[in-house]
Amino acid sequence: MKIAIIGAGASGMAAALQAAWHGGEITLFERNATIGRKLLVTGSGRCNLTNDAVTASKYACADSNWMAILLKRFGVSELIDMLAEICVPVRKTADGWYYPLSDSAHTVVEAFASALHQADVALFTSTQVTSIKKKKNGFAVSFIHDDREQEAVFEQVIISAGGKAYPSLGSRGELFPVLEELGHTVLPKRPALAPLLIDLGKFKSLQGIRLNVGATLWDGSRQLAFAAGNLIFTPWGLNGPAVMDISHHVSTHPNFSLELSLNWLFFFQEEFNRLLEQKRFSSLPLRILLGAFFPPKVVAFLLKDAHLTNEISLQQVNDITLERLVGRLKDTRLPIKSVRGFEYCQVSAGGIPVTEADPQTLESRRVKGLFLTGETLDVVGPCGGYNLQYAFSSGALAGRASVSSQ
Ligand SMILES: Cc1cc2nc3c(=O)[nH]c(=O)nc-3n(C[C@H](O)[C@H](O)[C@H](O)COP(=O)(O)OP(=O)(O)OC[C@H]3O[C@@H](n4cnc5c(N)ncnc54)[C@H](O)[C@@H]3O)c2cc1C
Repeated sequence: MKIAIIGAGASGMAAALQAAWHGGEITLFERNATIGRKLLVTGSGRCNLTNDAVTASKYACADSNWMAILLKRFGVSELIDMLAEICVPVRKTADGWYYPLSDSAHTVVEAFASALHQADVALFTSTQVTSIKKKKNGFAVSFIHDDREQEAVFEQVIISAGGKAYPSLGSRGELFPVLEELGHTVLPKRPALAPLLIDLGKFKSLQGIRLNVGATLWDGSRQLAFAAGNLIFTPWGLNGPAVMDISHHVSTHPNFSLELSLNWLFFFQEEFNRLLEQKRFSSLPLRILLGAFFPPKVVAFLLKDAHLTNEISLQQVNDITLERLVGRLKDTRLPIKSVRGFEYCQVSAGGIPVTEADPQTLESRRVKGLFLTGETLDVVGPCGGYNLQYAFSSGALAGRASVSSQ
């Protein structure tokens, strides 16, 4: 079976390996000069490969059952086995995030490169695929290589060309019009796992501070999404998993009524209540109580914002002031301007709806012999290894199925 795979990112490399291991004659096209460029920057260069908590309900896509079928066929343990096969042992953090034992994305890409070579995958780097045309018994794939437009015919084609996130690393979405021409629906691409642009007002002075918070997205009185995790104050707004995980909802509601509510106490509410009750009428300075939970810069900010002195004790603070302070810690409202663009997001939403591909094989339901993987489909997982898991899973299943599909 002659199979073309377009894109040597996480999903394309997994597809190429599995297809070659199952006996396919594989040609892998990659527009960059080297393979796995995006993989190199994942997890801040450490490559957060997957997560113990991977389940279908964690992903945003048109059909959660679709994702459940895909993950049942190729989930966390299948990925760990595949990585072990190419000599990438993994380690797990206390909270269930998986990384290569080497803690280096570079070694993951090197291992894939070596395995692809050993599996006799024909690799065409610095080669941009420009069109795919359905023929009677396969597909004519046009590509630019060595500044020359060329064409080759394949029995099956796997599209692993990514979405539009981080275009400098290769994925720019140019193949979506080609897929539309072949009969697919293409939903507008939107930034996801993106930082939020917010006018921080008085919170600007917290630039550089990292906190663990609960973050709720509101459209008027309607709750759109919630996420909990790390948050970073920046000159232009907020970054970090707590806001990135809800950012795809912001890009679907591009209006100005969206608000973010931060709960600064989310991760230690009980401990906070207990200590406050214990010390409420004591001479303990309020700053010491707050300092049990927040860094000094945040404590100084909170006291100043509540018009309280640095030395004020808990017994000196009146009930109304204290309630107001605690109320603000539980629900700080910030108006959202928008999300940062594709250049700053980790994945993109939109593209081909998952309902147009078979979750067992990733074969298109519109075009026989065409397979769609990774970010080409409209799937967004949260931070924590979910997106690489899905990219590897969909690629591996497509690679295997493409060899046996007639
Ligand atoms: C900064 C950053 C950090 C991230 N960290 C993590 C993390 O730690 N854990 C996690 O799970 N996810 C992470 N992600 C998300 C993860 O990297 C993506 O979900 C995943 O790489 C998507 O894989 P893919 O194969 O679908 O697409 P891509 O990795 O984008 O690969 C697509 C490939 O196709 C090539 N291509 C595109 N068009 C053509 C064409 N016409 N011809 C030839 N080649 C083409 C591109 O050059 C590219 O190499 C991160 C993303 C970013 C940007």
